[in-house]
Amino acid sequence: MRIVMIGSGYVGLVSGACFADFGHDVVCVDKDEAKIAKLRAGGIPIYEPGLDQLVARNVAAGRLSFTTELAAPVAEADVVFIGVGTPSRRGDGHADLSYVYAAAREIGAALKGFTVVVTKSTVPVGTGDEVERIIAEVNPGAEFAVASNPEFLREGAAIEDFKRPDRIVVGIEDERARAPMEEVYRPLFLNRSPVLFTGRRTSELIKYAANAFLAMKITFINEIADLCEKVGADVKDVSRGIGLDNRIGSKFLHAGPGYGGSCFPKDTLALVKTAQDYEAPVRLIETTVAVNDTRKRAMARKVIAALGGDVRGKSIALLGLTFKPNTDDMRDSPSLAIVQVLEDAGATVRAYDPEGMEAARRLMPDIVYTDSAYAAAEGACAVVIVTEWDAFRALDLKRLRRIMIQPVLVDLRNIYQPQAVEAAGFTYCGVGRFSGA
Ligand code: NAD
Repeated sequence: MRIVMIGSGYVGLVSGACFADFGHDVVCVDKDEAKIAKLRAGGIPIYEPGLDQLVARNVAAGRLSFTTELAAPVAEADVVFIGVGTPSRRGDGHADLSYVYAAAREIGAALKGFTVVVTKSTVPVGTGDEVERIIAEVNPGAEFAVASNPEFLREGAAIEDFKRPDRIVVGIEDERARAPMEEVYRPLFLNRSPVLFTGRRTSELIKYAANAFLAMKITFINEIADLCEKVGADVKDVSRGIGLDNRIGSKFLHAGPGYGGSCFPKDTLALVKTAQDYEAPVRLIETTVAVNDTRKRAMARKVIAALGGDVRGKSIALLGLTFKPNTDDMRDSPSLAIVQVLEDAGATVRAYDPEGMEAARRLMPDIVYTDSAYAAAEGACAVVIVTEWDAFRALDLKRLRRIMIQPVLVDLRNIYQPQAVEAAGFTYCGVGRFSGA
């Protein structure tokens, strides 16, 4: 199959490279000239484990190429995917579809012969209808079908997720789209990944419902964690105790600083807005959004409380800035709110993140960036684990204690055993773990 991927970000680049690895001919398009120049020079504009080798292998095999100009590859394509961003629209929280619609117009103008146009971006219900209308308006003679194929990959494990998905969802309204979509995913059919063909609107809603459910699950355990702290229970054991029930499942039941990232915050909000527009409010999700919003700042207050209520003039080390490990993505990371509150309270923030510091510098120019966890902890009154990178799981506590002014460890990911940390002479403060104090 000849495939074009419009948008070469976290989703577009990974999907494009994986499709090429399946044996298809793939052209990845992006408006960002610097990104395409870097890809053409053999570089990778984002951090995603294994992506560099995957891209290099498929470029070398002649199956994967990059361009800023979509017209020529779209004219040749069997299937064109739209994988551009759909951020929250400033002001009202609806998904901003301007990039999707701009891509649809450009695709429409370039189509030749029957082509399936697929929205892989996360888009609100009804967007496929509008993409179809735009293409028909721009190019009244075009032969095309619009499908929906939401992406469920997770940053940090994106290639594995794409190649071994729990399921593939394809929404179609035109039967002519079925065979090409089956062909695109044929290697995964052979692996027996379940493929669910649905109506287009249903497919669009599946993606939001999935993300909202996961966000709700995280928020649920976070509230239970707060209760644990008050009643003398341990949320890790509560989580295990409920997660072993197959009806509940153990994933997404880790208490922490609140969900962040490029998907959950914007997608929960967009679902809330869509539901309000259709007068079918999703109150559980409205509450999830509100609870999660307040949580990030509350985590900074937890740090301040661990230091006796006053951090003015004190130095605090943050370990991890990205919203989760194994990515450089800083979008809506809890660290942004935590840093803001700590700085407002008069603290100096020193930070280290294995991959996220370049992106973080653009968003938080005022903090001190260091080149290791220990350099961040030098002279600090508290070390705060914000992201559970593997590099932070086995810190040398004796060494930390020697270089810190006050031995306080605030573990917002519960990756340490409280007793072990306390035995090393630290005051330990986790999430949802009763200290007995
Ligand atoms: P991203 O910001 O990393 O990438 C989007 C890219 O699209 C950018 O490089 C941008 O320059 C490019 N672009 C925008 N308009 C364009 C146009 N008209 N022509 C060509 N290129 C254009 O975004 P992302 O994280 O890859 O997300 C893309 C979509 O996938 C979003 O809808 C997101 O919700 C969804 N999604 C993301 C993830 C994830 O983990 N990041 C997972 C599942 C779904």
